[in-house]
Amino acid sequence: MSDVSKSYRKRSIDGHEISPDSLAICYGFDPYMSEGAVKPPIFMTSTFLFKSAADGEALFKKLRGEGAELVDNANDLIYTRFNNPSMEVLEDRLTLYDEGVSALAFSSGMAAITTSLLACAKPGSTILHTTPLYGATEVFIRNYMPSIGVKAFEVDATASEDEIYSEAKKAMAEGSLSVIYTESPANPTNALVDISALSRVKEKCREQSGVSPSILCDNTMTGPIGHQPIRFGADVVLYSLSKYIGGHSDLIAGAAIGANKDVVDQIRKTRNFLGSTLDPHSCWLLTRSLETVKLRMEKSFENARICAEYLRSSEKIESVLYPGFLENGDPQKEIFDQQFTAAGSTFSFYVAGGKLAAFKLLDNLQLIKLAVSLGGTESLMCHPSSTTHSGVALEVRERMGITDGLVRFSVGINHPDDLIADLRQAIEKI
Ligand code: PLP
Repeated sequence: MSDVSKSYRKRSIDGHEISPDSLAICYGFDPYMSEGAVKPPIFMTSTFLFKSAADGEALFKKLRGEGAELVDNANDLIYTRFNNPSMEVLEDRLTLYDEGVSALAFSSGMAAITTSLLACAKPGSTILHTTPLYGATEVFIRNYMPSIGVKAFEVDATASEDEIYSEAKKAMAEGSLSVIYTESPANPTNALVDISALSRVKEKCREQSGVSPSILCDNTMTGPIGHQPIRFGADVVLYSLSKYIGGHSDLIAGAAIGANKDVVDQIRKTRNFLGSTLDPHSCWLLTRSLETVKLRMEKSFENARICAEYLRSSEKIESVLYPGFLENGDPQKEIFDQQFTAAGSTFSFYVAGGKLAAFKLLDNLQLIKLAVSLGGTESLMCHPSSTTHSGVALEVRERMGITDGLVRFSVGINHPDDLIADLRQAIEKI
């Protein structure tokens, strides 16, 4: 009998490196710790037994980062706000596609984003962020962070390295630059950010000021199958797991995946205080979803291309912001070729005739559903300027291209012929 208890963290077989596709199905779970169950059970418990009072003391020392040897306890488990086996299996598997060293699960994408920002950007420091960003992130950075003494500086997602550095210098002049925050592709315009350029800017900032800002990248829009920001220099990759990784529009969750242990530990401490941890049941659902994330995403990528081409061929659609349509000579195309392996399946398009025409299209959909969110098996459309981005000031929205004719489309895994039939009849009614 093979010794499964020793193999649950195995990453190679006789020198062959096991792919994340296979690891996503088994990594980090030892069946013999759970009665031989092939699949991880849900650990619905709020708290864990200490084997001795000395172990309780040692575990709390470890939690505070003071380091301590455990006497009897093999598990390191204390209390579900800090850790839980269902959460640890998920966190181990979240590192796989993104090639992170450690990951943290959160109660929502916004919990991951706000907790990470609060952990990395201390009062008195500054943040440089790209625009556009997801509406709630934009509002948090622009309106909330200044209220705790963190001033934000912005730069367009498509800015050159020189432009980014020039803005970084302004941020460094007003405080130590603690975070470079980005979202690539940006929601909802799909602007691509050159993460390698951000990484070079980070290095220049370190040389100039002695302080190295952390690069935080929200990778929700293309997900780990089409884009891995850590490979290009991001320190932390953030996700709304409510989208592609959850993939079934039935839960709310988030993640922070770190390129190094220090940054993850810093965020973990803040998560432990804020209590923005994910519950065991959602962790279990996500562990299940991770097994099929690649299959689902690849199918939705194929469907998205078919839909984007159909929309581009309609004279009632002004333009389609689909990264797969970028042309040679466009700096965005260079970023796409270097840093992305897929064009994703959420994109936006401008309907000719503005809000009235966009609403007409949305109200006539029969299969594609009208709702916010993205990355589920079903296909969804929404109108960002009146919903997801309505909290962003009009002037900022217009500068970002989030105008009244813009519609965002999250393409699911439906049969593509059905999607085209629905698009055709709804567009005809505009
Ligand atoms: N980041 C992006 C790009 C998003 O689209 C969203 C939600 O739509 C979030 C973050 C926030 O995630 P959650 O709704 O899970 O808090």
